Amino acid sequence: MRFTVAIDGPAAAGKGTISKAVAAHFGFAHLDTGLLYRATGRRVLEGEAPLDAARTLTAEDLQRDDLRTAAVAQAASKVAAIPEVRAALVDFQHAFAARMGGAVLDGRDIGTVICPDADVKLYVTANDAVRAERRFLELSGNGADVTREGVLADLRERDARDSERATAPLKPAEDAVVLDTSGMGIAAAVAAAIAEVERVRGPDPE
Ligand code: C5P
Repeated sequence: MRFTVAIDGPAAAGKGTISKAVAAHFGFAHLDTGLLYRATGRRVLEGEAPLDAARTLTAEDLQRDDLRTAAVAQAASKVAAIPEVRAALVDFQHAFAARMGGAVLDGRDIGTVICPDADVKLYVTANDAVRAERRFLELSGNGADVTREGVLADLRERDARDSERATAPLKPAEDAVVLDTSGMGIAAAVAAAIAEVERVRGPDPE
């Protein structure tokens, strides 16, 4: 069975948590496509050319534990604006989306560019203040030396770059269901996402 769930949205809106929970609930595989751009960005920070890095990404690159920093996030959004870098990462994402057993992909352009025929498309968003607070708690909880103002400014800069780029900009697909998680706890957001998948797929066969 092939079944693809595309989950897009801006930084720190809850995509990652929702995607993992949906994948676990239905037994689907999950790909955080942001990791592809983060891993590319990290290698660029170490001095490599963006396209060389994107073309030679390895599984180890994706498993590094230093991909979640603010510096890597900014580098990721810079390399993500380069059309050739995006093109170099398409085949891997297509293959993942087409695997048997179902797949959830989260990112910025999954419903619009990578999987325009996805069975379910969700656009997960939240207002700036809520997203910045969530990301601040996540980064400071991991011991990073960050301020609320700095995190908010970083998010806004990255969202602007992601939304305004010419190739595969961040935007909801026309047929995406928009899920605004600003006033929602994580359990409610996950339940809403699962309900949408069930609506399309039918309830889980026992
Ligand atoms: O989702 P995450 O914050 O890890 O993504 C890091 C960056 O990678 C984003 O700011 C965006 O520039 C880029 N990205 C993208 N397309 C995707 C996933 C991520 O351009 N499908």
